[in-house]
Amino acid sequence: MRKDWRRNCWKKSMESKSEKKMSVGKVYLVGAGPGDLGLVTLRAKECVERADVVVYDHLANPEMLGWAREDAEIIYAGKKAGKHSLSQDEINKRLVEKARDGKEVVRLKGGDPFVFGRGAEEAKAIVDAGIAFEIVPGITSAIAGPAYAGIPVTHRAENSHVTFFTGHEDPSKIKSAIDYAALAKLGGTQVMLMGVERIDEIAKEMMSNGVARNLPVALVRWATTGRQETLIGTVENIAKRVAEAGFEAPAVAVFGEVVALRKDLNWYERRPLSGKRIVVTRTRKQAGALTSQLRALGADVFELPTIRIEPPTDLREFAELVQDSHTYDWIIFTSPNGVDAFFQIFYKLYDDAREIGPARIAAIGLATAQRVRDFHLHVDLQPEEFVAEALVRQFQKQGGVENLRILLARAEKARDVLPRELSKLGAIVDEAFAYRTVPETRDITGARRRLLEEGADLITFTSSSTVENFLALGLPWPKGMQVASIGPITSKTASDHGLKIDLEARRHDIEGLVEAIKKFFTRKNVE
Ligand code: SAH
Repeated sequence: MRKDWRRNCWKKSMESKSEKKMSVGKVYLVGAGPGDLGLVTLRAKECVERADVVVYDHLANPEMLGWAREDAEIIYAGKKAGKHSLSQDEINKRLVEKARDGKEVVRLKGGDPFVFGRGAEEAKAIVDAGIAFEIVPGITSAIAGPAYAGIPVTHRAENSHVTFFTGHEDPSKIKSAIDYAALAKLGGTQVMLMGVERIDEIAKEMMSNGVARNLPVALVRWATTGRQETLIGTVENIAKRVAEAGFEAPAVAVFGEVVALRKDLNWYERRPLSGKRIVVTRTRKQAGALTSQLRALGADVFELPTIRIEPPTDLREFAELVQDSHTYDWIIFTSPNGVDAFFQIFYKLYDDAREIGPARIAAIGLATAQRVRDFHLHVDLQPEEFVAEALVRQFQKQGGVENLRILLARAEKARDVLPRELSKLGAIVDEAFAYRTVPETRDITGARRRLLEEGADLITFTSSSTVENFLALGLPWPKGMQVASIGPITSKTASDHGLKIDLEARRHDIEGLVEAIKKFFTRKNVE
């Protein structure tokens, strides 16, 4: 059935998606896991996807925010440069207020919400306010940290019990609640959260209570992330090693004989790209494959989108052209983004693919054609070369375009070769601006801040536009950052801009690039 544009169905259907739920809200205290996105529960993901409001912490991986709805409200409740951006009371109040407004609120907390980190206090405040809540447990860093460092927290022969304690207590406590004498007597494996900065006092306290000076200790920082580092020592020398290495929070400490097993069981820090900081510069939507392959090899990937896709300046005009698309002889798509934007509107207006009528479809580029097929439509024309000129030639071969009505769905500010050449050949061309690309100025995941503060080992360029868009951001070039390019065209653009190419993929696709990067670093490690 064709929906009537004039009755504003399109607008209505857009609105119905964001209609407010009238029921009373609910708060979900959700464990965000220790850092690795793969260690987040399915339930946590589901909660984030549905949430109206997400309140997240310093230790919750901000990439999880990418799962939230576009219109979800995102509130940062972590620490900024040493000071809390929201006090605990303010956080509690915020959670209650938002739920009272009828919102589904997700409170994302690093690790497990009830293992330290004040989850219990938040839950109490919520229940006292008479608000419904749920707890979604998460994998705590107390378990995942040792596991990713190759340290089993229990061992049949050596350690048959494990204790979690905090090295950072409420400073207002008059007497330490941690009974170090009891801990010393208890033995087993002891895992400490927080308190790296107090490791000297803690180790001394342990030794004065009879813990063996040579008991092995491991500190795992930023466990399960690309920047995981492990420091090994004994109760006697660990504080000195921490000071020498400048080892900082967040870290989990493991005390116990099990630490020695790491010698054989260390797996995470032995992967080929472990410790390498690599920048990926595609748009967030496209970055996925490269990022995940590099991460699987152990790299610490900074996903740094340089551009983002936004709706066109005149969405109404675009929608009107989409509505009339069945009146054209041809619809031409030049990018997957154009296809997406077109069908997003198309299926808001129509509920039957046949409403596209007799219009035939042309697509430039394999990915563009594939995206059309994803919508179960046939691609009638696809030039062998992926440029506008080739499409014009192909049309000519087919007998020309004279008097044909052509709808060209593409980005604002694209090259005007296509409309110009097709009009010259007698076609009646309408340009439908489907989207526009804008510089990405936001830094939701903190990747840009990390790049500026910590530098990087390598930056990857997967097309000329990634080079140009990255340089257009005007960021200072981190010292020693090397350049990887997917192929000669990209390399040429980079060298035209004065960059030196350190490695170029032999096979010019993502797999080829990943392979080249792996070789580049493993060869270097051997040297
Ligand atoms: N609820 C969290 C702990 C919150 S307390 C959990 O279950 O993991 C904060 C402390 O957790 C930090 O000081 C540090 O000791 C530990 N921590 C959390 N994430 C960590 C990580 N990725 N690597 C190392 N330690 C981490």
